[in-house]
Amino acid sequence: MKKSKYIVLFSLAIAVGLLLPCTVGAVTDPMKRNCEFVDVEPEVEKKYHYPRRLWNAFSEKVLKRPSDKDLQHFVTVVNDGEEPREYIKYVDFDVSLTALNAALKADIDSYGTEQHLCWISLLAYLGTRYGGDFSKFKHQDLTTLLGKLKGGETIETLTADMKHFPYYLEAYTAVLGGFVGKYKIQKSDTNGEIKWEERYGLRAFHPIGAGFGFSQYDDFGAGRDYGYRRKHLGHDIFGAVGTPIIAVESGVVEELGWNRFGGWRVGIRSDCGSRYHYYAHLRKNRPYHVDITEIGQRVEAGQVIGYMGHTGYSTTENVNNIKEPHLHYGLQLIFDESQKEGNNQIWVDLFAITKFLDKNRCEVYRVAETKEFYPIYASEFIE
Ligand SMILES: [Zn+2]
Repeated sequence: MKKSKYIVLFSLAIAVGLLLPCTVGAVTDPMKRNCEFVDVEPEVEKKYHYPRRLWNAFSEKVLKRPSDKDLQHFVTVVNDGEEPREYIKYVDFDVSLTALNAALKADIDSYGTEQHLCWISLLAYLGTRYGGDFSKFKHQDLTTLLGKLKGGETIETLTADMKHFPYYLEAYTAVLGGFVGKYKIQKSDTNGEIKWEERYGLRAFHPIGAGFGFSQYDDFGAGRDYGYRRKHLGHDIFGAVGTPIIAVESGVVEELGWNRFGGWRVGIRSDCGSRYHYYAHLRKNRPYHVDITEIGQRVEAGQVIGYMGHTGYSTTENVNNIKEPHLHYGLQLIFDESQKEGNNQIWVDLFAITKFLDKNRCEVYRVAETKEFYPIYASEFIE
């Protein structure tokens, strides 16, 4: 029983250690925040390398862990012949647009100060208090939290007795981990020359190129009938055939080609491995951007990856069998590779997230000869 608790904690701490893009709580030098490491040797053979601050935070929590019963809804144990391991099996991401915006502002406003606040840890604190239900969100709750942090408290001390905080921190980090951070982007200087600039902030893009109209509604979980009765595990964005589709986040092409549900689709895995972005129903005949050619290739956030269409719902390739042209955008969370396929996939409700990303539309231009679109200002994640 005790050993099992430790494994839960170790796996949570490992995942958070690997994924967390910004440090929890106050730091003196944001540039050095992940530089100090501590080696921890748990009961398993692998040696894990944790940022010291995180390790301190989570090693404390090992002693105060919730019971296995408390965690059973969130964490699952597998023993499939490999080393037994535990990981999150369920996430209901309900963070509202208002809360996302408010936390992002607190993060960006504090960047470069002595107390850089990680937006994800702020949201995880609130999510823990609300039991994940952000219909309870009040600005005052965030203001109070920020006041306490300014007064010298840290997220670690404030959450020491919040037994589900590590769960929300890991879950929200899995959803939002790559969205905010350092990046470089091209900008024109006064002479019209394009130069690279380093920035910090929201670096993920909306999946529809800037200037292209679209419509949407909250359709996550709605019923779908093609093939078998199932729930709609993504967000549909309706627009014109040929609308450029933008990579929301940097990563590596993991799936490319025809799928009888999604038609022409492309799946891109985030660098941290926890997010799989799925873009489907791309255009008949020329679904992909000329630069998207093979599984395993690298894609940068803001890159044009393909064009909107209405292919899919057919075992025959290159067939338009979807009534209205739209992008089906899906985001799958992967805490363990066994979750990628099969019955226990975790897909995120993207309604609030796509609205949140609307402030970061990628400007594109069209090359007349090739009819391909490209971003005017390329960008790349840093770190
Ligand atoms: Zn869809």
